Amino acid sequence: MSGVVDESTKLSKLLGARSAGPLERARDLHTVGDLLEFWPRRYLEHSADLSNLHVGMYVVVVARVKTSGTRRTRNGKEMFEATITDGSNDLDLAFFRPYGHRDVLLPGVTALFAGTVGIYKGRWQLAHPAYQLMEGGLGPHGTDRGPIPVYLQVKGMQNWAVAECVRIVLDHLDDEGVPETLPAKVRLRHGLPGRLDALKGIHVPTDFAQVQRARHRLRYEEAFVFQTLLAQRRARQAAERTRARSPREGGLLAAFDARLPFELTAGQRAVGETLAEELARDVPMHRLLQGEVGSGKTVIALRAMLAAVDAGGQAALLAPTEVLAAQHHRSITTMLGDLAQGGMLGGSEIGTRVALLTGSQSAPARRRNLLDAASGDAGIVVGTHALIQEHVQFQDLALVVVDEQHRFGVEQRDALRGKGAQPPHVLVMTATPIPRTVTMTVFGDMETSTLTELPKGRSPITTHVVPADKPAWVQRTWERIAEEVRSGRQAYVVCPRIGDDGPAPSGSPDDEELADAEAAEGEEAAPRPMAGVYAVEALLRENPALEGLTIGVLHGRMAPEDKDAVMASFNRGEVEVLVSTTVIEVGVDVPNATVMVVMDADRFGVSQLHQLRGRVGRGQHPGLCLLMTATDAEGALERLDAVAGTTDGFELARLDLELRGTGDVLSARQSGGGRSSRGMGRGSFRFLSLVRDEEVILQARDDASALVARDPDLADHPELQAAVREWVDEEQAAFLERG
Ligand code: ADP
Ligand code: MG
Repeated sequence: MSGVVDESTKLSKLLGARSAGPLERARDLHTVGDLLEFWPRRYLEHSADLSNLHVGMYVVVVARVKTSGTRRTRNGKEMFEATITDGSNDLDLAFFRPYGHRDVLLPGVTALFAGTVGIYKGRWQLAHPAYQLMEGGLGPHGTDRGPIPVYLQVKGMQNWAVAECVRIVLDHLDDEGVPETLPAKVRLRHGLPGRLDALKGIHVPTDFAQVQRARHRLRYEEAFVFQTLLAQRRARQAAERTRARSPREGGLLAAFDARLPFELTAGQRAVGETLAEELARDVPMHRLLQGEVGSGKTVIALRAMLAAVDAGGQAALLAPTEVLAAQHHRSITTMLGDLAQGGMLGGSEIGTRVALLTGSQSAPARRRNLLDAASGDAGIVVGTHALIQEHVQFQDLALVVVDEQHRFGVEQRDALRGKGAQPPHVLVMTATPIPRTVTMTVFGDMETSTLTELPKGRSPITTHVVPADKPAWVQRTWERIAEEVRSGRQAYVVCPRIGDDGPAPSGSPDDEELADAEAAEGEEAAPRPMAGVYAVEALLRENPALEGLTIGVLHGRMAPEDKDAVMASFNRGEVEVLVSTTVIEVGVDVPNATVMVVMDADRFGVSQLHQLRGRVGRGQHPGLCLLMTATDAEGALERLDAVAGTTDGFELARLDLELRGTGDVLSARQSGGGRSSRGMGRGSFRFLSLVRDEEVILQARDDASALVARDPDLADHPELQAAVREWVDEEQAAFLERG
């Protein structure tokens, strides 16, 4: 072999076309770097020896063929048998088709055998074991007893042939050919092996401890590269300048505070002060506000928006769906009263206007609102995320508040900054409690505030699981709804899907997608049909227990004006039972609703159920949530019991993270799943777990921040810089792919 081998070297050059071909065709592996990051999915461990066998045991053992031969079974079929030994014990092998084995497993041959131990006529036996000949002994690598890496299947190649290719590639590499992304100091501090050693530890380990060390190093590397990216972002943001929005005496905020019908909680006051301080600085704010459903985030955000308006700027509030945008617009307008009628007869003198922008508005309404935003007459503009991003012009956008943002990716946040002459201050609110590991990664470029206490006077929510296959329980559930309604309350019935009986699609696409995505989130597709909104509505209308109750339907595929009409009449208390999809999941605020039934509750994620039930118990009456399910899957029931057992959202978020894994949590980064160089697989972590690795993430963050403080452009760390760039590119690519 001539020339230096590095990660960009073509496999065909090193391995020849016969081996490189299948790797290219089956797994898209072209270069040395590609193959090295074709990570083993698991390892087979050599069994200690054959002296201690039991039925059902999976053995992997290097052994020698003692005897072998074919014989005829009683029904005349030919079969092949062999006896192998590892010196400690004998084991019989049985193959019911001799072809392909008869001429290979000859006495004296040594091979690696793997299979499940059975017993036949009083002797230990492996039926149809897998095996790999060990020609010329055990090879030069001394891994005869080491764990055996198992790769994803490569069409046209045996696993050990793949392993052999990786081994050849590794033999040709030295440290020069494998860029070291981790600074030496960092590696030293944490006792991490170099990258080449780690790659060897993964692919040709001598023992499991080596695999573990290698994995730890790669885990750390992923955390470190990503935290470096975040540290650079933070540094860039800290260098940005915007206009300071200082508070003003006697303005909108003061007037609003004076008429607040309740006392702010201590937490709300503290967060409010933080926001005011940050708005008053000339460095744009980047803050995440998290707090349980109903913890009073919206009030806090509104106060910040009013402060921005007082300072002469505008504020935009972005919601993930049209229903939510409309809801926000309604509640903000209500809370502001005459303060929201700036420039209108009867409006307050210091008042402003609140514009609403949704895709489904009539053209004239939309034009008027766009004009209000552009002229600055509307101090506050409420809309869906997509809309504001694309078309809207502002006179002077000072603050962007993003509600329930954690459905969106980091990337979209960037798009907002281009809106104003200076970058606006950004506040992101999420009601889904987020474990610390996730805030440190997904929101690692933002500061975080958390509202921990609920406002006084919140009523407790009780949750029960209702088995859908017990008719008496189900009927009792509907009776409970009827009782609540008859005592003046209202009810939600949430279904995982819309159903086929509905009107043809006409609604806005963003609600629609959300509803569908939610339903899909629940579980892997199961054969059991899910309850649809229309089927459940029909069921309830027929049920004598609910006779005379006003039942309404809401889902993302309805025409926008119908959606609005239904929400409005539910708000007014006219619709008593609302059968809906998860469009009501976030932010819908009807304090008079006290009971919620979730159909096919097993189809929803833990955090999602928690979020959903936050719709009840928002007023002075205690809330009741009934999770109906026909599942008897243990895991599903366990999840539902967990939701019924606690109302601690952080606890449930942790559980959710554990159950669903990282992919779903890194919403925007979850696409693809394909292999990629650097092993981060299209913008997601291959080794790092947001469930397990809090310690690693914390360390990596500290290390990365320190490094970026010394070397902001990574001029002295080109390999790291390249890895960061690659991550950004992949994130971008993954995002574009998602559309
Ligand atoms: P979130 O947005 O966090 O879900 P909201 O801001 O919508 O919560 O508040 C939920 C409800 O509680 C609203 O009706 C709001 O007016 C009310 N609320 C907010 N803060 C307080 C408080 N400190 N005391 C009493 N009620 C409050
Ligand atoms: Mg809210």
